[in-house]
Amino acid sequence: MSDIIQLLPDHVANQIAAGEVVQRPASVVKELLENAIDAEASEIKLLLKDAGKTLIQVIDNGKGMSETDARLAFERHATSKIKTAEDLFDLTTKGFRGEALASIVAISHVEIKTKLAESELGSHLKLEGSKIVSQQLISTPTGTSIAVKHLFYNIPARRNFLKSNTIETRHIIDEFQRVSLAHPTIRFSLYHNDGELFNLKSGNLKQRVIAIFGAKMNEKLVPISEETDIININGFIAKPNFAKKKRGEQFFFVNGRFIKHGYFHHAVLNAFEGLLAQGYHPSYFLYLEVPSNTLDINIHPTKTEVKFENEQALYAILRSTVKHSLGQYSVAPVLDFNKDASMEVPYHFKDKPSSTPKVSVDPTFNPFENEKKSTKPPRKPTTENWDSLYVNVENDALAIENIEVDAQVVTKELFTENQFNTTAKTFQIHKKYILSVIKSGVVIINQNLAHQRVLYEDFLTKITVEDAVSQQLLFPIKLSFSQTEIALIKDIQTDLESAGFRFEMIGDEHIVINGMPTLVKEGQITAILEELLDAVKHEIPESSFSQLDIISKSLARSLAIKNGTKLSTREQEEILEQLFSCKEPNHSPYGKNTFVTLPLDEIELKFNN
Ligand code: ADP
Ligand code: MG
Repeated sequence: MSDIIQLLPDHVANQIAAGEVVQRPASVVKELLENAIDAEASEIKLLLKDAGKTLIQVIDNGKGMSETDARLAFERHATSKIKTAEDLFDLTTKGFRGEALASIVAISHVEIKTKLAESELGSHLKLEGSKIVSQQLISTPTGTSIAVKHLFYNIPARRNFLKSNTIETRHIIDEFQRVSLAHPTIRFSLYHNDGELFNLKSGNLKQRVIAIFGAKMNEKLVPISEETDIININGFIAKPNFAKKKRGEQFFFVNGRFIKHGYFHHAVLNAFEGLLAQGYHPSYFLYLEVPSNTLDINIHPTKTEVKFENEQALYAILRSTVKHSLGQYSVAPVLDFNKDASMEVPYHFKDKPSSTPKVSVDPTFNPFENEKKSTKPPRKPTTENWDSLYVNVENDALAIENIEVDAQVVTKELFTENQFNTTAKTFQIHKKYILSVIKSGVVIINQNLAHQRVLYEDFLTKITVEDAVSQQLLFPIKLSFSQTEIALIKDIQTDLESAGFRFEMIGDEHIVINGMPTLVKEGQITAILEELLDAVKHEIPESSFSQLDIISKSLARSLAIKNGTKLSTREQEEILEQLFSCKEPNHSPYGKNTFVTLPLDEIELKFNN
């Protein structure tokens, strides 16, 4: 048999390697930003078009490259950062493999302009799929500009695999935040489709955290500082009462590099033990410095996991350092977990007229009071028109007229033989469950989950059919948000308006709320908006309808009557009535059972033992 093995041509090898290094636009962003940092830039600009799918450009004022280097940089294993294998054990740069640019250029069109400080003229190269298509001398500032266009143009499967622009942009912003948090003294800016998303001035760590996450971070941060023989720890943790229900902002950096580390994360959680209510996550920005020979980052180009020598000792130091800071800033004393901590976040009063009456947060908030006050006619549960959900109905009256018949059919289907009798007596047990008798036995309803379902369907109809009623605020509320959050709010502004929010943007850090959904109380608004943004951020909406769905769900969860709230008989009945006139009464918007039934024959059996 003849020989069949051959060496892959370079461009094929590069394309294969590219698959590992470049998974999405955000991977290119990471590599280019890191190259700019390695080139000792003091200012780095990132420009994007269409979430990086059309253009990713990084412009730095670093040391630049010579004409030959500019060409060589795109070869595989071309690096200026290590020379021998020993160098691997004492890395001071982000890159060292020399494969990022070679991979990127294999799957895109690249244009580079670069100049050394001492040269008069710079080089201008254009490459397409690893081939240099033009090379010229050019007059350009010292530093490097690399533009990556049409990513994955020659790998359609990869290109089709990319997610929506919202999601890809979010990945890029994550990467940008990690890199810029690791280097607060470097000035970073980020523009997307010509709009500015971030403009971060050179500063210290705290200033950088605040520039990224908003001025409201200022009051939340507790400094951390510890020096030992094997590790130095610096940075900030957020006070436990600002912990978030969803994953908070959690950042570890080691020797200037963002890492994920489950074990160390656990050390921090452990230090917070007893200070966080169930399901809350602390935010932290922790910078670890260890001797570079005790650290192994040589695992995988895109992996953020690293290995340390002495992990157990480091765990103990980390845990006690965080604990100590928490104690020192006396954030340890009792927190009242019966109150919902997220409801107590104060908002900015700074710009309100001084005559404004103080708005207090009501921990015993009961949404039913509001419903009574609502300007709308009381709900008529059995006549709700669920079929009209997606139809554009002109007004309520019309909707109600049309449906009576339909809606009863729905109700009947769900509760055959009319076994459910809304006038039956109800009992509240443990301030959590509503118990009622049905023909076939007993039904036990979870008040919180049931009310979530009711509010969810209510919001969804209001939003999709007619725009929810908005209550005008006498004194508009000014809230501060991070630039990412503001970008997100802009994204979903129309949907928020349909839900009943009325607001304007002030600059790139504030919004002013003029109106909000009728069920929301003034004191809750910050917490509700934060939950809502978190939900939108993490649930990854693909279409505008599912975005409305996410908003409705989140509002329902925030506003539903809490377990632990005592309900009057009238309120219990109201929940029951409303739940069983829902389209899908069996489940909460997040898929949990809203009620369970205990059939008579099962009860019977229990006595036949
Ligand atoms: P690595 O960063 O692992 O060395 P890259 O493929 O990312 O590999 O880059 C190859 C080389 O190109 C680098 O070692 C560096 O010498 C040069 N280079 C890349 N980007 C820049 C930049 N922005 N400024 C100056 N030199 C750069
Ligand atoms: Mg590199």
